[in-house]
This record gives sequence, structure tokens and C-alpha cells, in this order.
Amino acid sequence: MTNKDLADLIFPNLEHDVDYYESLYPERELKEGEKVTRFAPSPTGYMHIGNFMSALVDYSIAKSSNGIFFLRNEDTDKAREVSDAVDKIMETLYKYGMIPDEYEYKGEIVGNYGPYIQSERKEIYEAYAKSLVKQGLAYPCFCTPEELDEIRAKQEAAKIKPGYYGVWAKYRTLPVEQAVEKIKNGEKYIIRFKSMGREDRRIKHKDSIKGNIEFPENDQDIVIIKADGLPTYHFAHAVDDHLMRVTQVIRGDEWVSSLPLHLELFRALGFKPPKYAHTATIMKDENGSKRKISKRKDPEAAVSYYHEEGIPADAVVEYLLNIANSTFEPWRRANPNKPVEEFDLQLNKMSVSGAVFDMVKLLDVSKNVISKYTAEKIYEETLKWAEKYNQEFAKLLKENKDYSIKVLNIERGKAKPRKDIAKWSDVENTIEYMYNDIFENMNDYEFQKINDEAEIKDILNSYIEKHFNISDDKETWFNKMKDLAEEKGYAREVKEYKANPEAYKGHVGDISTVIRVALTTRHNTPDLYEIMQVLGKEEVEKRIQDFIG
Ligand code: GLU
Repeated sequence: MTNKDLADLIFPNLEHDVDYYESLYPERELKEGEKVTRFAPSPTGYMHIGNFMSALVDYSIAKSSNGIFFLRNEDTDKAREVSDAVDKIMETLYKYGMIPDEYEYKGEIVGNYGPYIQSERKEIYEAYAKSLVKQGLAYPCFCTPEELDEIRAKQEAAKIKPGYYGVWAKYRTLPVEQAVEKIKNGEKYIIRFKSMGREDRRIKHKDSIKGNIEFPENDQDIVIIKADGLPTYHFAHAVDDHLMRVTQVIRGDEWVSSLPLHLELFRALGFKPPKYAHTATIMKDENGSKRKISKRKDPEAAVSYYHEEGIPADAVVEYLLNIANSTFEPWRRANPNKPVEEFDLQLNKMSVSGAVFDMVKLLDVSKNVISKYTAEKIYEETLKWAEKYNQEFAKLLKENKDYSIKVLNIERGKAKPRKDIAKWSDVENTIEYMYNDIFENMNDYEFQKINDEAEIKDILNSYIEKHFNISDDKETWFNKMKDLAEEKGYAREVKEYKANPEAYKGHVGDISTVIRVALTTRHNTPDLYEIMQVLGKEEVEKRIQDFIG
């Protein structure tokens, strides 16, 4: 009896062999420099910012090289699978503009290298596992969980490296006849890789991010086909990334220690390995020390957080590219309107120790991104967000569409647009005082320097009686504000006041603040002139009169 008999017994009815698959999925016709990358999430229902970052890097590397970016669903861990996870992944990729060139979704396969769902590739993995068994490079292992526990306990007691390897690999040298007999007797088994590696030898590798790295060889006889017939990550990675003709694997740091194993698997299978880039975990700064961003402690570790807060997708992308490559920021400054796809992301410029995620910086980037939007776009995006997360506000926006756009247009579309909105969840708070029904119930007036009620009323009274005219242009309006300041003993200009503070009660800014607060309750708002224009004559008068009354 030979290994071939064993292989035929384990995989009796395979329709195709490896040669068939090799010709079914030929090398891609790529031009010099074009890269093939893939995003390969496990459908566990939760997208971590680190996975998202990997997807973004995959996408950027493929697009800037004019190559291919595809999506592969790694659903071999059936116990952890969540039913709508794939919908969420697709939704996220579309929302963030990272549309895969090849994918499989709702029964439709786009691309010639599918299926793109691992559980649908079972026969392919079997063909390759069979070929390994046939060559004596893989074997059935009949260890029961109790036997594995026993091995582990012995290794622990002897203080030696744990695992299934060398002399500990109980079924590695089982004669074919006995293996065949056990299988015929219905004994349960899995398939293990027969490693030829030795721990005392080292391998060198050049990682696209980390540069030169060195490891001991792999010597573990890892599982390649599990008891449920599906492959492990390691085996599926080798088979899929080979057959799908990936040129650059980009994945999290947690996989770097498996690299010796993966390189050995590629060699045993006769495949040329792809290039690897292992991305460092995103970090958080906590009181001056760095720690890994954590699903438990940091809400921003989940990509869903950004949707919930209403941080626009392009802001998140801009920010992440920023932390991926520090050259992004100067590129963006030089090319304010270019699509991000044109940015030439460099893997070798990515952080090896882990970039620090900074929420304040993200919100700053977001403010900048939003400042370039039109009022109409902000209205639409805010409404879309509010329909999901703040229905009452959505209703208000819908009932006052034109007015809301006017409000949002205050200080917008100018050389220096307003930058007070970082996320759609900020909008309500930034503009609520512009809606009469809401304003009526606001009573937390943020008066500043001038906070004596009698003086406030006197200023408002004079303003409304003598100076307010809705038809004034901005310059006239401002001159009148200065006239009012002078009348009440305040300097017309801030610098006059600063030069001679004894001579005045304050300056024109203190006066305009009184009017601003009376009209909005806030001391910090966009341009007051524009606010008054949008409120209109009657409403300005009403608000001031009500206040005096
Ligand atoms: N399914 C693996 C994960 O989500 C993919 C890793 C890889 O990109 O190879 O961690």
C-alpha cells in the first residue's frame, strides 16, 4: 500500500485534481508594477478599525498600481459566524468607496477567480490536501482530544515547547497500512501537514513593512483540514492566495509569527509565495503610554462607531491614510482636490511599532472635510444620519428643508468656510437656536463680559430702536454696531481698547456678544450678520423684544 492508496481512501470522489485548478485559475495578465491585493475578513459581525485599515491599505495599494482589489469571505470558522456579517462588510466597503473589483455576494460571482467564499471552495482545498497526502507531505492524525491533552501535559511537565511536532507527532510515522485500517474502522481523524522544518535552523524574510525579519523554521505539523472537512486559515491562505494570484498580502501583525509555516506550506505545495506586509496594530495613547486600541475600552475600535457618530466616510479615510503614511498630509496640502486613489501609499513607510489613533486629530480632519461640502450636501448627509439616529431632528430638517439649507449655508462656500461641524451628530447642537420652536425653550444665555441685566437690556433696547435695519449691508451693519459701542462707552475697535483700556468699559466685541447671545443664547456662533439675515427682521425683533420683556 502506498500514500496514493491512502489519499484515494481519504478523498475518494474528487472531480478535479490540482492540475485542473492550476489551469482554471491561470496567472493574471498584469502589467509591470500592477498589484493584486485582497481583503479577507472573517464574517464575525464586527469590523475592527485594524481590519478596516488593512482593507484601506489593500485598496490603496491595488488602485494606485492600477491593479486588482478583491474581497474574499473567510468563513471557515462556522462557530463564530454571524448571519448578516457579510452584508455589513459589503455595506462598509461601499460606504467608504472601497469597491472590490472581484467578490461574491448574494449568489453573484464577479471575477474569474471565484468562488470567493471559502466554504464554497471545499473541493479545491481537498484536491490540494490530497496531493500532499499522495506525496507523503500530509497525513491523517487520529489523536483524540484526551491524547492531545496528555501530550501537552507531558510537554509542560518537561518544560519543553508545546505543540504537535517531531517525536510528539504521534501519527506522523504511522505506516500507511495502519492508517488505512483505522479509517476503514471508522476512526475519526483530521489531516496534518508533515513539516520538514527544524527549529534550530533559521529563515530570513523581507516583509514589505517590517523589512528584514528572521525566525526559526516551522516544525509544527499543523492541521490543514479540520474535523468538519474545512481547511484551517493557514491552508486556505496558501491555496487561495496562490490560486487567486495575489501578489501582495497585507494582514495584521498577529499573523507574522505564522510566516515560517506559511512559507513552508507554499514550498510544499509548489507555489511561489506572495509578498507579505504585516501591519502594526493601531495604538491608543493613554496618559502618555501606548497601548493597543481595544474593542472593550475604546468605542472607536469598531467601525460602526463612525457611522453612529456620523463622521463622514471620506474623513475617516483621509485620517487613516494620514496615520498610514505621514507623507499623506503634505500630499493632500499640495493636491487639495485629488481623489485619494491617486495617493501613492508606500508600505515601507508604514509604522512598524503601531500608529497612534488620535480622535481629536480625526475630528479636525473631519471638520476640514466637511468645511468643503455644500450646504445641500450637509443637509442630505445629516438627514440620512438623523433618520437612523435622531428621528426628531430628522423630522425638523424635513419640515424645514429650504430654511435648514440656508442655515447651513451661513459662512460656507467662502475662502474661509466655517469649521464647527466634525460629525453629523454635531449639527443639531450647532444650529438648533435657528429654529424658533427650539429657541423658545432655550434659556441658558451665555453672556460674557457684560452680564448685568439692566445694562444688557439697555444695549438691546438701543440697538433695536436706533440701529437695527435688516436691509443694511454688512459694512453698514458693523459700523452701526460700532456706533452703539461708542454710545455706551465702549471702544469702536479692539485695538483702541487695548491701547487705552482705562478709557473704556470694553470694546465693540463685548457689545456684539450681547446681541449674539440674546439672539442665539450662545456666545460662540458663526457670523452674526449672516445669522440675522437668515432669521429675518421679525424674528430678530421678536427675540430681542422677548428678552427685554
Ligand atoms: N480572515 C483573516 C482575518 O480576518 C484574514 C487574515 C489575512 O488577511 O490573511 O484575520
